[in-house]
Amino acid sequence: MKRPTHLIHHPYQAPTAFEAPQPGVFKASTVIFPSVASIAQRDWMQKTGYTYGLHGTPTTFTLEERLATLEGGKHCLLVPSGLAAIAHINLALLSQGDEVLLPDNAYGPNKALAAHELNRWGITTQHYDPMSVADLAHRISARTKLVWLEAPGSVTMEFPDLLGMAQLCRERGVLCALDNTWGAGLAFNAFDLLPEQPGALGVDLTAHALTKYPSGGGDVLMGSITTRRDDLAQALKLTHMRLGTGVGANDVELVLRSLPTVDLRYRAQDAAARELARWCAEQPAVAQVLHPALPGAPGHDHWTRVCMSAQEPQGLAAGIFSIVLDARFTTEQAHAFCNDLTCFKLGYSWGGPMSLVMTYQLNAIRRMGTPHLRAGHVVRLCIGLEDVADLRADLLQSMQRHLR
Ligand SMILES: *Cc1c(COP(=O)(O)O)cnc(C)c1O
Repeated sequence: MKRPTHLIHHPYQAPTAFEAPQPGVFKASTVIFPSVASIAQRDWMQKTGYTYGLHGTPTTFTLEERLATLEGGKHCLLVPSGLAAIAHINLALLSQGDEVLLPDNAYGPNKALAAHELNRWGITTQHYDPMSVADLAHRISARTKLVWLEAPGSVTMEFPDLLGMAQLCRERGVLCALDNTWGAGLAFNAFDLLPEQPGALGVDLTAHALTKYPSGGGDVLMGSITTRRDDLAQALKLTHMRLGTGVGANDVELVLRSLPTVDLRYRAQDAAARELARWCAEQPAVAQVLHPALPGAPGHDHWTRVCMSAQEPQGLAAGIFSIVLDARFTTEQAHAFCNDLTCFKLGYSWGGPMSLVMTYQLNAIRRMGTPHLRAGHVVRLCIGLEDVADLRADLLQSMQRHLR
């Protein structure tokens, strides 16, 4: 054997007696079969049946198992982004002639996917009032196949009546999917919304942007889909295989590395965000603080129902909230406030170590009225892991310069 050939056909075998708590990182496109007969025998739908790297490796299956545990599900599937998780649920479960219902405060690209691709493929969409179970009930028809829930809603942070909406979907026999990025499997259990009655009420599927808390580093894009239902898991896995949307082991390794600290980081960012949200509520420049854990915020009572318990008397919430600046300020002033923050950087995403700020024009992102919101410019603040006093001082200095 020539030496270059030897570099490829080396005697390496995966170690079997190397016992470390950290999982190995397995990278492969090809998986070798011992015989032609074994190719037909191997079942790629099972997590032991490795056939091709795209369909899963020991590394991806390990993360899938841990995420299923975190979210209280049974099956989990990794995809290349949180948005891909949303898209896979839509593509795997909807057919021509079906209708999907989205809350008006859904994650923007979910609405865009529905308006463009789904619409082109003959799948219609209706938006419902995220604060009204009655409005959702009114819109469910014989064509409704899937209802999306988001708790809380994107940017405006209204916490919906998750119990009422999940119960309604169950009664009407409609699939119910939740974007679980905010709760991250920590703030509440999407598959057991009534913890005192296990199995009584939950959503059918969750999508999770691992890009946020599970990564925690601001350096990975990944998403997951979790369900307890075997039939849905099967449909998703088949669509996933046909779309070719596997994830790379190096990215999975980063999420596996971060996952043991997700609970600590979530709690630290929650505490810091609530402290800053309360401080913002006292500032004369701020007309309204949109954080579901704050009394008076839209949907606070719904948040209390699912996120507070005897074990969590303070409840849990992600470290993200929005403020509505007083309507007397101009758009230029709002933008200057954002530009001149120094700890808070202008950018999308959240759940990483660095605090972020983003500005939104409400009339551009909502179709329905928002009577529960005060008029004014909306600014979203995502709290990282910096010292809270530094973040407060940063908000104060830019408010004093631009919002007086
Ligand atoms: C970020 C986010 C997504 C999309 O995740 P990506 O990995 O950035 O595609 C979806 N839903 C919510 C609520 C998010 O915050």
